[in-house]
Amino acid sequence: MNKIKNYEDLLKGLNHIEGVGKKTADILKKKNIHSIFDMILRLPHSYIDRSIITKVSDLQIGKIQTIKVNVIKYNFPRIRNLPNKVLCEDQTGKIDCIFFNSFEGYIRKILPINKAVYISGKIGFFKNKYQITNPKYVSENNDIVEQKSNKYKLTEGISEKVYNKIVEKILKLLPELNEWHTEEIVKKFNNMSWKKSITKLHDYDNIGKTQSDFYKRLAFDEIFASLLISSEIRKKIKKIKKDKKFFNFVLQKKIYDRLNFELTNDQNIALNQINNDLKLKQKMFRLLQGDVGSGKTIVALISALNVIESGYQVAFMAPTEILAKQHYNLAKNLFPREVSIAIITGKTLSKDKNIINKKLENGETNIVFGTHSLFQKKIKFNKLGYIIIDEQHKFGVNQRKRLSDKGGNNCDILLMSATPIPRTLIMSVYGDMDISLIKEKPKNRKDIITYSKLETKIDEILIFIKKELNYGNQVFWVCPLIEESSKVNNTSSIERYKSLKKIFKKKIALLHGKITAEEKDLILNDFLIGKYQILVSTTVIEVGIDFPKANVIVIENANKFGLSQLHQLRGRVGRGERQSTCILMFKSNLSENARKRIKILKSSNDGFQISEQDMKLRGFGDVLGFKQSGLKNFKLADPIQNEDLFKLGEEEIKKIERENINISRYKPLIKLYDRADIINDIV
Ligand code: ADP
Ligand code: MG
Repeated sequence: MNKIKNYEDLLKGLNHIEGVGKKTADILKKKNIHSIFDMILRLPHSYIDRSIITKVSDLQIGKIQTIKVNVIKYNFPRIRNLPNKVLCEDQTGKIDCIFFNSFEGYIRKILPINKAVYISGKIGFFKNKYQITNPKYVSENNDIVEQKSNKYKLTEGISEKVYNKIVEKILKLLPELNEWHTEEIVKKFNNMSWKKSITKLHDYDNIGKTQSDFYKRLAFDEIFASLLISSEIRKKIKKIKKDKKFFNFVLQKKIYDRLNFELTNDQNIALNQINNDLKLKQKMFRLLQGDVGSGKTIVALISALNVIESGYQVAFMAPTEILAKQHYNLAKNLFPREVSIAIITGKTLSKDKNIINKKLENGETNIVFGTHSLFQKKIKFNKLGYIIIDEQHKFGVNQRKRLSDKGGNNCDILLMSATPIPRTLIMSVYGDMDISLIKEKPKNRKDIITYSKLETKIDEILIFIKKELNYGNQVFWVCPLIEESSKVNNTSSIERYKSLKKIFKKKIALLHGKITAEEKDLILNDFLIGKYQILVSTTVIEVGIDFPKANVIVIENANKFGLSQLHQLRGRVGRGERQSTCILMFKSNLSENARKRIKILKSSNDGFQISEQDMKLRGFGDVLGFKQSGLKNFKLADPIQNEDLFKLGEEEIKKIERENINISRYKPLIKLYDRADIINDIV
């Protein structure tokens, strides 16, 4: 391709660029760069200016710098594996050029003896002397001196030189696209066009200028595309009709008598909102959001009863088997006898599965709990009318879509999440949904007290635990990710289990990823009924499980966790009426950052507040787990820095919705920012 004509061309693969072969294109794909557009939307994070010549005496170790030196002496050892060396100097000092795996002839050619040369590379220091290893930029004339080049996060197999060349080539080919924004909007960015902005983005003089017009324009493109798509999805969803569900709260009333608590105000409001949606002709697409322990499950279960009363089936999905099982057990205990309940997990025996499938297909079963195994094609419902998805961020958009397909048009959808989303993001992440928020915690809750302890003071922790056990309380002991490999994790929890078992004997149990589902269920169940008092585990307990009698959680190597994750883990306790404690264990003295995190955790029990702080410390991408969610991450926009742009976008969207403005001008924007597939996907 020697010309990029339109936005559609931008979406083509990189092999369409002259000089980029399939091999290079494949390497880039590994870095998630699939199209020309992907490539130009990546920011250079810094640049090297090879034009600045540094005296040897002024060199800085670890930096990429350029020197002008005379070649003094070769040292070509005849021993294998020893590198070739070339001694060079300027008026201020000496430096070695080190060559591994290079031929003498090549070295003599690029570094001729007694000649002055320019060399650019990373400065090292060895045995009291500066050195440059395998320098890539060497020249007799000052042509490297002209070179400034951007640095991008690269992937193995592609060099900076090649990468920069491709970017340069693309930039030269860029077309001026028709402006998709209105005049008023572009004015806000000083009339910066898309092409001009992209070009400026890759100009090394502009690196880090996130407050400039060109940068903000591109960030706004991204934000606006995402808001626009949410808005389109919302419109589409609102048009979907279903049969109204009719019920008189017969089952709901029955369950009230069995609860040993009253719903909080927020729970009641959420439940009413859901019930109202169920009765409407419009399909429900609602998110139930509330901090850990705020009591989302019971709200969902009660609404499920209403759906059952109206003659439909319900599918209740959880991300882990343990959680699915717990919800199932809760329903078994609470639901009136006439409701028929089933569970399907990956571990369900196939003969049992057949029976369950049959009962689902003929409508005998009213509600089924399960993990993603509920997606299987084999599973058919008689009259599915309601899908509940717990911890929705653990599921991808496609998985949600597959399940909602099963229900046909009569399926209402409720998503649940404890992931706190900052206000700025709500529209772009969940703009397509209605939201019910449970802010209030059940009244009997006491705030969890959080301590930090060095591992060497484990004795103090043990004394504390013994005391708690004497009161009949239960303890979680979490051994976290030490490395990615689950083998290592299991070892660490096994070791800890062994050492604690010497002290606590039969009161202690171990749960880790490697044991079978049956064993796991058995252990959890035994823990629940109080057979064990301490449960050592890896992070399998992180998501959703509820143990009202557990009131102490010890988290080892707490610095391995992010704030939000610690908050989630901590949320496993503090559900009963007793005072709960969270002890964060550390291996060594705390880093500044770790100190900050503990301070935040100690001072707040509010997940939303914590996640906002977390985002300030770590950047928002890491916190929200967007990658798993299937929701797109932003490349340039930042929900904290660009709050004003989010607001501007929301206003613009409201105007479009209010005045019913045709959005065809935004088509390239939507296509480029690639969420268009989601429109078809989500509904
Ligand atoms: P989450 O919102 O994190 O999913 P759960 O639904 O698991 O929280 O509820 C946590 C615990 O709180 C459960 O033991 C549940 O029985 C209890 N619970 C829920 N609502 C109330 C309430 N209104 N009053 C007292 N306890 C409640
Ligand atoms: Mg939950």
